[in-house]
Amino acid sequence: MKLTIGYFYPNILNLYGDDGNVQVLKYRAEKRGIKVDVVNITLETKDIPPEINLVFMGGGPDSGQQKVYEDLINNKGSFLREYIENNGVGLYVCGAYQLLGNYYKSADGSKLDGLGVFDLYTEHFGKHKPRCIGNVVCSINSDLRHDVIFNHLNKVGDSLVGFENHGGRTYLGEGVREFASVVMGHGNNSEDGKEGIWYKNSIGTYLHGPILARNPHLADYLIAKSLKLDTLKPLDDSLILSAHTASKKLKQ
Ligand code: GLN
Repeated sequence: MKLTIGYFYPNILNLYGDDGNVQVLKYRAEKRGIKVDVVNITLETKDIPPEINLVFMGGGPDSGQQKVYEDLINNKGSFLREYIENNGVGLYVCGAYQLLGNYYKSADGSKLDGLGVFDLYTEHFGKHKPRCIGNVVCSINSDLRHDVIFNHLNKVGDSLVGFENHGGRTYLGEGVREFASVVMGHGNNSEDGKEGIWYKNSIGTYLHGPILARNPHLADYLIAKSLKLDTLKPLDDSLILSAHTASKKLKQ
């Protein structure tokens, strides 16, 4: 049994400590005696190993998104599309989340066609609307929360905490499931109370933090789901649970 994490564009899409998500996944899996390989997928990567069973891609500023965009659409996109459509497990944060949608209109007005795997679009209104910045508290989509695997592992309940900093505002297509609903913060667009997307076994979100360092239930869900395990050995999570609880009391 091996967790093979495909970490896309680690040197370009890695904002606000997003790299920590991969470290958390590795740490929590290894603590359970699971072997972990982290495969960095960069602009130079030609062949993506087929044994990848967990994908992570982080956030990046508009300039970072422009840098990976062509490679994503022309080279890596076909792998990712097939992976996601075939129920591959993955976490896509902020800039990555935006690029997997139908399009991203950046602050300078230029439009990047997205991969179109997620039925959503994102627009950055430049100086016309303030950035969405601050601490976030959400409630996880109840269908996801009641997923058998999630339920077995969850010691936190339905709360989710993190930090957001994005100019783009994302709008989900009709009938598309959000990852969570916003209790405090902006979420996808500061209007409809939705945060992120939950599509098949993929999660797109605006939460940095890094999100998995403050939400152990989500980290374990991703590990167990990737390896098709019903449950995982419990860890001593007292510190991380204190961080989670304290985060819920932060001001926006
Ligand atoms: N450039 C995007 C935005 O500002 C993404 C930022 C991010 O990944 N934090 O909306």
